[in-house]
Amino acid sequence: MLIGSSNLLRAFKRQKLLILGAGCSRNYSQGTSNITGLESPLDSNFFKMAKKVLLNSRLESDLAILIEGLVHNLHRLYGYEAFEIKNWINTSDASRFLEVLEDDRLSLEKVMTQLIFENEIFQRMPPFDGYYQGENRTIDVDSSPKALIELIALTISKALEGPVCSEHIRLANSLSQGDVVISFNYDLLMDNALRETKKLTDCGYLVPFRSVLDGQGSRRMEDTPSDITLIKLHGSLNWLHCSFCDTNFLNRSEKISLQYATLPRSCPYCGESNVYFQRVIIPPLLAKNYSLSPLKYLWSRVNRYVAKAREIVIIGYSFPSTDFATEALLRDSFPWEFQRQTRFVIVNTQKEVFDRFKKTFNSSEVIWKSSLKEYLDTI
Ligand SMILES: [Zn+2]
Repeated sequence: MLIGSSNLLRAFKRQKLLILGAGCSRNYSQGTSNITGLESPLDSNFFKMAKKVLLNSRLESDLAILIEGLVHNLHRLYGYEAFEIKNWINTSDASRFLEVLEDDRLSLEKVMTQLIFENEIFQRMPPFDGYYQGENRTIDVDSSPKALIELIALTISKALEGPVCSEHIRLANSLSQGDVVISFNYDLLMDNALRETKKLTDCGYLVPFRSVLDGQGSRRMEDTPSDITLIKLHGSLNWLHCSFCDTNFLNRSEKISLQYATLPRSCPYCGESNVYFQRVIIPPLLAKNYSLSPLKYLWSRVNRYVAKAREIVIIGYSFPSTDFATEALLRDSFPWEFQRQTRFVIVNTQKEVFDRFKKTFNSSEVIWKSSLKEYLDTI
């Protein structure tokens, strides 16, 4: 291939990398859900936001049953009285039933950790039903982790229901060919903004999708190269994976609508049920198991994209002390003096995040912007 003058120019350009965390999605202000106080959830207020959504949505019955099981489990784990209630949606008891979701002790990562420990490490305590059922009694597979994934998808979809985010469009416009976005968010704010500005194609995700589902059927993924690469290291609302045939799908019909009816059914490729066919929404805890497909592939390639950047803008990501992976990724990508040669911009409402970052890396240039608007106004 000939190297044109624009490619040569690009070689000398400071390549830009954006790293987006949950705080970035808080900039969405065009939501149309009309649910009072609902905003894009963070780890700490996720269940409070989920409660608002559950009290104001019509759920299909499969999803309602799934989430009911999760809430019963939370009652058990957080010391609440057992609740004898079925079909709680749209009943006058729903608010009381969901009260546990307001509990300040709950955070998304904590609850997910608890559920995974119960399912994979502890021998689950048998139910106290008063009689011995023999050695071969089976304990039903607990569907709470799956319910939580669906609750995440539902809550985010509702909170971000509405037109493409104007702030994210400004952000997309600030990027040029070859720039990279790493996102820890499941939502589609950046995806939709990049699509809108014609900077993202199916290839831009780096995930080898077998096909693209659009509601009516499936088609092959487009092979047009993408100007911007969007690497979503914790998965995405619109990705599906079948662990039976190890196949990835991109759901282009994932519209954020009032009727939430997108509970994955069965794999369009091998036909296996939704035990295998699931959303690729990997909570931070699970993302630490880097063997999950297709995230393993993304994590194995991400450092070469980070290493090319000479300017890194970190938006709404707070460097939680438990997230060793992001720090490890930056250290690996910028060895020796490269750390010093890279310009970092920390966009965060909290100045502590900027201070913490400055102490952690050996960069000569770290700038703090207290809001996305402030950052966008200065570029
Ligand atoms: Zn399959």
